[in-house]
Amino acid sequence: MLRANMERLWRMLDASGEIGRCGERGLTRLALTDPDKVMRDTFVEWATAAGCQVEVDEVGNIFARRPGRDQSLPAVAIGSHLDTTVCGGRYDGILGVLAGLETVLTLNDHGTETTRPIDVVCWTDEEGTRFSRSMMGSSAFAGLFAVADVLVASDADGLTFGAELARIGYAGPRRTGDRRFDAYFELHIEQGPRLDAGDVDVGIVVGGLTAKGRRWAFTGQSAHVGPTPMDRRRNALVGAGYAIAAVNDIGWKYHESGGKTTVARIDCQPNRYGVIPERAVIGIDFRHPDSAVVATMAEEIDAAARAAAARANVSCERVEEWTFGGVAFSEDLVRLLTATAHELGIAFRSMTSEAGHDAYSISTVAPAVMIFTPCQEGISHSREEAIDPRRTADGVNLLLNAVVARANRPPLAP
Ligand SMILES: [Zn+2]
Repeated sequence: MLRANMERLWRMLDASGEIGRCGERGLTRLALTDPDKVMRDTFVEWATAAGCQVEVDEVGNIFARRPGRDQSLPAVAIGSHLDTTVCGGRYDGILGVLAGLETVLTLNDHGTETTRPIDVVCWTDEEGTRFSRSMMGSSAFAGLFAVADVLVASDADGLTFGAELARIGYAGPRRTGDRRFDAYFELHIEQGPRLDAGDVDVGIVVGGLTAKGRRWAFTGQSAHVGPTPMDRRRNALVGAGYAIAAVNDIGWKYHESGGKTTVARIDCQPNRYGVIPERAVIGIDFRHPDSAVVATMAEEIDAAARAAAARANVSCERVEEWTFGGVAFSEDLVRLLTATAHELGIAFRSMTSEAGHDAYSISTVAPAVMIFTPCQEGISHSREEAIDPRRTADGVNLLLNAVVARANRPPLAP
């Protein structure tokens, strides 16, 4: 069995942690910004030095290939993302990409060849912080988003994904999705407290929870905050406020069975002192292990939004909705990870993912699986995000050995 060089992996993580650093240990590296470009350049430089052939597709996904003995076979891919949220953590996503690179470097150290090629993949804009849709690159790769739609997505300043991609030099020539994977592995910090609280350092992820989102818009009438009597007001922000509290109560209602609701964003117009707001839009996210319960929560949330609008004497409208997750990962790959963990003597638990990941999109086009490692207190999307190399090594070694086993699997009979 092979062992990864954790010191080398940590040096790469530390170098990455300086590119877009926010405060002492946070990272602001939004997709297609200058820090994202610098990190991409660094990744390409490292991958090239490791002997990989690098290709970039139309939406900026980067594929660094370590050739296999049989180049005609589809690659075993290891991927995640290098972008972050605003002052987010330095390991979310980044650990998965750099553990992929460390896998290649360890194989190089030992002069180990594999039958299939190994692709280390950096997916563009997983976080969705800048262009409002998450998992952009992997969803385009899987054909879930049209490339044309991704390229015209715009940020808060009106800059488009396509223009920013070209500006940083990552509008690649390779057609998006024009690549087959034999298997896809993603190592990721758990982003929740379960592993950190226990004494097992590896989660073998069997699937992902269904998550739904929707935006509700509340529309009232702007007026002067002084002369307008209370009974004549149509304050859109008040409607949104009632809805936010009600949505949070719905999360509490399902708390015992693992349900969650979040309003993380509000856009208010005109958002000025002295003026009663005429429009407020909130983004609602809700999740539950049981997809039937998610459907019930959706009805309750919509009813709560309508009731909030009525109470505030404003109108309301559901302006957007989306769903992701509800994913079952490949049973073959779960079995492979389980067997490899037994061989390595690594303790693990079986888990489901509660956050969205690129592996969800890729699971629609290739067998996919994830490995979780602990993060302190389960905190991520925060500058407080932290991980312990000693508690990360098992996951990295599991990834390494499972990828090699899969890449050396005998070719299937035609
Ligand atoms: Zn992530």
